[in-house]
This record gives sequence, C-alpha cells and structure tokens, in this order.
Amino acid sequence: MNVNRVLEVHEGVPVRRLREFMGTLWREANLNAVMAPFEKPASSFVIFKECNNPVELEQLNPFIPVMHANAALSAIDFIGKREGQRVAIILRPCELRAFTELKKRPSVQFDVDSTIIIGVDCLGTFSREDFSSLVEVEGIEYITADVLRNAAEGGLRPQHFRTACQICDWSGPKGADITIGTIGVNSDQFLLVIVKDENTEDQLKVTALTDDKASEYQVSHREIVVGAIADTRADMREHLFSEVNGMGRFDELGSFLAWMANCSLCGRCLSACPLYRGEFKGKFGQVLDTSSDRHVLSELVNLGRWIALCSGCGMCEQSCDRNVPLTLLLSSLSHRIRRELNYSPGDPIQQAPWL
Ligand code: SF4
Ligand code: SF4
Ligand code: SF4
Repeated sequence: MNVNRVLEVHEGVPVRRLREFMGTLWREANLNAVMAPFEKPASSFVIFKECNNPVELEQLNPFIPVMHANAALSAIDFIGKREGQRVAIILRPCELRAFTELKKRPSVQFDVDSTIIIGVDCLGTFSREDFSSLVEVEGIEYITADVLRNAAEGGLRPQHFRTACQICDWSGPKGADITIGTIGVNSDQFLLVIVKDENTEDQLKVTALTDDKASEYQVSHREIVVGAIADTRADMREHLFSEVNGMGRFDELGSFLAWMANCSLCGRCLSACPLYRGEFKGKFGQVLDTSSDRHVLSELVNLGRWIALCSGCGMCEQSCDRNVPLTLLLSSLSHRIRRELNYSPGDPIQQAPWL
C-alpha cells in the first residue's frame, strides 16, 4: 500500500521545499549522488546531471517545463558506474517509462535496493524554441509557476506544449519509489509525496522527512485529475491520428513516403531515442551498408520491437531539423503495435512478449 505524505510549501515556492526534502533524504538515506534536472544559466535552462555534493541541490529543478533529452539511458549508465553506492534519480513520467523498459533488458543489471527512483508529475514541456521565447517575455520562474498552477487546475488552460505532451499516455510516474505529486495539487501550498509501499517507507523513512499525512481527498483528487488528463489526451491522440489517417498519411504508402522525403538520414532522431539500440546501424548518416548480412526480416522484427516500447517522449522529433513529424508517426505506430501485443510500455510488472 502507498504511504501518502505532504510537504508544506512556504512562500509559494515548491521547488525550494523539494530541494530541502532532497537534502534531508540525502542525509538520512546516506546517498552518494543524485542525478536530476538542474537549472543552468544561459540558453539551455536545464541540464540533467550527476550531483555529488548536497550543496549543489540549490540548483535542482525538475519542474522547469522544458526537456532537452530523455534521461533514461544516462540514468542506466549512472547506476552502472556507481555500483555499490546509494543513489537517487529524478525522472519525468516519459523518462521513467523508457527507464523501466531499459531495466527489463537482460543485459542491464543493477542493485534495486541501492537506487531510489523519484518520479515527478508532469503536465507538459514546451519546445526549446517556444520556451526560450516565453522566458524572454515572462521569465523562467513565472513560466514554471504558471505550468504548476495549470497542473493544479487539472491542465484546463491550453498551453502550447510539444505534440508529444499533448498526446502523452500518462502524466504521473509509474513504478517510482517516490512520486512527487503536483497534478491536481495546489503546489504553492503543498506537494504530495507518495511512497510506493510500506517496505520502501521502512527503508527510506519518508514519514520523518515530510510534514504530515496526506488526506484521502488530496490523494484521490490527484488520481482523478491525472486520469482525466490522460482521457483528454487519449481523445487528442485519436483526433490527431484520425486526421493524419484521413489525409492518407499512414494508410497509403505514397503519402507516407512524401512525408518522409524531407528526411536527410542524419540519424539524430535515433541518437536522441533512449530505446534505440542501433537497429539501423550503418544505414543512417552514411552510405547504405550493403555489406550487411542482416536479413530484412530481422530488421522488421527489431523495428517493431523498438517502436512498441516507445515512451512517447518526443525527443526524436525535437532533434529533427527537417520537421519530420516523428511523434505522430511513431506514436501512432506504437499504439497499434502495443494494442496487437496487449502490451503497455513503462509498466514495471509486464514483460515485453518477446523477452
Ligand atoms: S511526454 Fe509526458 S511526461 Fe514527457 S514531458 Fe511531455 S507531458 Fe511530460
Ligand atoms: S532527425 Fe529528421 S532528418 Fe534526421 S534522420 Fe531523423 S527524421 Fe531524418
Ligand atoms: S521513438 Fe521518439 S518518442 Fe519514442 S522513445 Fe524514442 S525518442 Fe521517445
């Protein structure tokens, strides 16, 4: 059963309270390092990095609504490098979905007990360009606070999030040891801290690090709002898929290829994908590898498996300078494949059918 707690927020600045919480967690759980999004001066605003000293938590900020990369693969590398050490990692829901899928790979092994996964609710993120423009006009604190306010209201106000966010499967982290709840939560007054089960609470003693027990209303209200956002986004997804299908984009090869014709085969989208494992090695960014003895059938199998696991982060599209609408393309294909396979990527319990 979950252990539901509250962090009281002072002076309406939730990130400050989260930093304090992480500082006490660091001390009490004897952490060696934390990997998370940190504020960065100048143009990129946020960087996902390792932090080896709790003093650096002053720059921690997983609420900034911009995302430069899906951190799932970096998180797996970080855990591998820190074998035998106690670490914590903060991820958004789409990063956690990818992380969960990477963890299921037989080649990936780590000590679950020494890693604390913290997931944060995420209403959405802007494209880098939109975020830069917004920051110029309104400032980073205002935009971050505005998205949190909208999250508290249940995402009712339209904000120009990336396409991936407009059709995101689930805005709450699944399978995290600790979830920081901001959706349906007045985060200028409190943050929800949801510990996944009593064993985890016994290990981490989160009760002692937080201010109060969360009320049933606070917990169930968040769940209802997260569910309502998922329903709205499922409708948006169906609408966008039906629009592109209506244009014959997916159902007719010529139209589909016209869409793809703009692609320069640079391969940046593949490099941006945490789940891509070199399935097309030698075929992008250089001359087609005609010496490959890989059978076309295995290419198709790998392609289907890769797309089935898509976490919906949209980082492939964000990395594309040719405006190929990869989010819609991959998400539409992914939803079809997973429906056939009855598989839900990011579910920590379910195994991929081919594993
Ligand atoms: S895809 Fe979902 S989890 Fe990822 S940034 Fe967008 S809303 Fe957040
Ligand atoms: S990033 Fe864009 S242009 Fe480059 S390979 Fe991917 S789809 Fe093509
Ligand atoms: S295919 Fe694109 S949306 Fe899917 S996990 Fe990879 S980068 Fe994210």
